[in-house]
Amino acid sequence: MSTAVSPTTTGQQPRAAEGVEVGKFVGRWRIERTIGQGTYGKVRLAVDPVTAEKVAVKVIDKSQVQSSKQIARLQREIRFLRLLHHPHIVKVYDVNETEQFIHIIMEYAPGGELFDYIVAHKRVKEREARSFFRQVLSAVDYCHKNAVIHRDLKPENLLLDESKTIKIIDFGFGNNFTVEGLLDTFCGSPFYAAPEMIMGKKYEGPEVDMWSLGVILFALLCGHLPFDDDNMKELYRKIATGTYTCPDYLMTNARHLIRRLIHVHPKERATLEEVLAHPWVN
Ligand code: ADP
Ligand code: MG
Repeated sequence: MSTAVSPTTTGQQPRAAEGVEVGKFVGRWRIERTIGQGTYGKVRLAVDPVTAEKVAVKVIDKSQVQSSKQIARLQREIRFLRLLHHPHIVKVYDVNETEQFIHIIMEYAPGGELFDYIVAHKRVKEREARSFFRQVLSAVDYCHKNAVIHRDLKPENLLLDESKTIKIIDFGFGNNFTVEGLLDTFCGSPFYAAPEMIMGKKYEGPEVDMWSLGVILFALLCGHLPFDDDNMKELYRKIATGTYTCPDYLMTNARHLIRRLIHVHPKERATLEEVLAHPWVN
C-alpha cells in the first residue's frame, strides 16, 4: 500500500552523514534534521534560535549540478519561486550561495507530502479532496496566468502546512510558455505525464498540467494511480491510450471531471476555465 500512489517515491533512507551539518548556520538559520530528499541534495529543517521561527532549506550540492541542463533546471526553479507569490505556492525567503552549496530558504510545510496523507488515509474523502483540489487549481491558474507551467505536478510536490493548506513546491521542471512557441521536453514522473509528453510530441504547455491534475484528482479520490504497471512499455501504452478504470464508488460528476482531464487529445482536454466551472469543483 505504501506504493499505492507513486512507485517512484524516495522514502526516508538512513544516511551516514546525517549528523554532520546539524548545528551549522545558514544566515540566521540553524540547520536541523533532514525532512526530504531532493535530486541534488537534502531538504533540511532550520530554526532561528532567537525567534524559534522554522524554515525549510533545500541544500543543493553544486558538485552534483554539472550539465548545462541541470544548471538551467536549477536557475528556472529559483527564478519561478522568486517570481510567484500565491497562498498555495511555497514562499522563498532567500537564496544563499557558498563555494560548495546553494541554499534555497523557504517556508516550511510541516504537514508533509500530500502523497503520504493519501497513503495514511487510504484515500481522501470527497469533501476534503475537493478542498485540496480547489487550492491546487487556484495556484495552477495563477501560474498559467503568469505564463508559467509546472510540468511536475504530483502529490509528492504538494505539501501541507500545519492547517492542512496546500503548498506547491518544486518548480525544477517549470517553464514559460507562449501561445506561439511549442515545447517538447519530457519532464517529471511518467505516472503523471500526459501522453503527448511521454511520446515526445510538441505541446503548448498548460494542457500537460491539466492531465497531471486529473491524475492527482484520481489519486486523491481512489488512493491509487489511474495508470500503473511494473512494465514501462505497458505503462506507456496505458497512458497513450488513456486506459484506466474508475472504482465503483466514484460519483458520476467526479468521474466526468476526471474523464475531461485525463483526456488523450490535448486540444479536447478540459481547460482550467472549464474545471473551475465544473459542478464537482463547486
Ligand atoms: P526535488 O526538486 O529534487 O524533487 P523537492 O523540492 O521536491 O526536491 O524536495 C524534496 C522533498 O523535500 C519534498 O518532496 C518534500 O518532502 C521535502 N520538502 C521540500 N520543500 C519542503 C518545504 N518547504 N517544507 C517541508 N518539506 C519540504
Ligand atoms: Mg520533488
